[in-house]
Amino acid sequence: MQEIQKALQEVRATLEEGVSLLAVSKTHPAEYIQEAYEAGQRDFAENKVQELQAKVEVLPKDIRWHFIGHLQTNKVKYIVPYIHLIHTVDSMRLLQAISKEVVKFNAANKADRVVDVLLEVHIAQEETKTGLGVEELDGLLKEWGQAPLEGVRIRGLMAMASNTDDMEQVEREFEVMNQLKQRIGAQYFAGDDNFDQLSMGMSGDYELAQKHGSTMVRVGSKIFGARYYMK
Ligand SMILES: *Cc1c(COP(=O)(O)O)cnc(C)c1O
Repeated sequence: MQEIQKALQEVRATLEEGVSLLAVSKTHPAEYIQEAYEAGQRDFAENKVQELQAKVEVLPKDIRWHFIGHLQTNKVKYIVPYIHLIHTVDSMRLLQAISKEVVKFNAANKADRVVDVLLEVHIAQEETKTGLGVEELDGLLKEWGQAPLEGVRIRGLMAMASNTDDMEQVEREFEVMNQLKQRIGAQYFAGDDNFDQLSMGMSGDYELAQKHGSTMVRVGSKIFGARYYMK
């Protein structure tokens, strides 16, 4: 387990100023997360609601949980009470579902919670990757500008680069995202300091991502080792 703390130190040593580190703990047991927690890590990311729920129950309450998987509208209600940031919003329908659940939660708890989200952009070459195309992104934001939804705040963009060894390709994609975030910020969020996040970069490419404006890197295997999926 000491390997986790060592790996964490190594990754931290290569982080640029202003870039936050999310430890992607999906598929790994709660003990691994606890280990990273004891080394001072507070931001963790999961991609399955059920797995996230189980971990939230047994781990320290001051962990900031990030959601980075495909989120079904009917599962939104489970994470709304505590989620720190949802990275993977890719439709108005999902935004509406989040808003609806936040409003319900606030009414039931006399609270005034706002859930932060990122809009996921499809940038990779692979067809299978999720996310909005640039045109869809503009369409969604025009709609949002006319009628922003209660209880949800758009904090920025998220993307996954192509899964390729061609690092020039990956670098081009990161730079496209960097430019896109700046354009979107100026065009739709002028004067709004809350649109300030760009989530990109994973174990294999985060050093490149932070050269191109990433503010949050999502690092899994480099901290926790290889993932073994249960079949
Ligand atoms: C699993 C995952 C990561 C982390 O990947 P590693 O290569 O293990 O660092 C980052 N982002 C998303 C969206 C993921 O699903």
